[in-house]
Amino acid sequence: MDCLFCKIAAGEIPSAKVYEDDSILAFNDIDPQAPVHVLIIPKTHIKWAWEITEENSAVVAHIFEKIPEIAKSLGVGEEGFRVVNNCGDAAGQSVKHLHYHLMAGRQFTWPAG
Ligand code: AMP
Ligand code: ZN
Repeated sequence: MDCLFCKIAAGEIPSAKVYEDDSILAFNDIDPQAPVHVLIIPKTHIKWAWEITEENSAVVAHIFEKIPEIAKSLGVGEEGFRVVNNCGDAAGQSVKHLHYHLMAGRQFTWPAG
C-alpha cells in the first residue's frame, strides 16, 4: 500500500523515533508546531478514526495508555499537553493513516483553528 506512515512504521522511510513497541510507533513531526510535537501511530494501517471498530480498537487504547509515558520521556510535566486527531479533509487530515499528535511546550489556545 502506498502509505507514508506504513512506510515509516516498516522502517522504509526514516523517522526520528521517540517510542516504539510491537504495535505502535511515536516519532517527531517533520514540521513541528510546538516544542514537543510527536505523532503516534498504530503500525497496522487504519485509515482514519471512522475505521476504529471493536475489532481494532485495542491498539488505540494502547496508544492512550502509552501517552503519559511518552510525554514524560520528552520532558513534559504537569503543565500539560494536547492530543489531537484530525479525521478527514474538513479537519485537515493530510496523511490517511490514523495518527495522534502529541504536542507540548507552549500555551495552546481553544478552540483549535
Ligand atoms: P495531519 O495533517 O493531521 O494528517 O498530520 C500529518 C502530519 O504528518 C503533519 O503534521 C506533517 O508535518 C507530518 N508529516 C508528514 N510527513 C512526515 C514525515 N515524513 N515524517 C514526520 N512527520 C511527517
Ligand atoms: Zn498506512
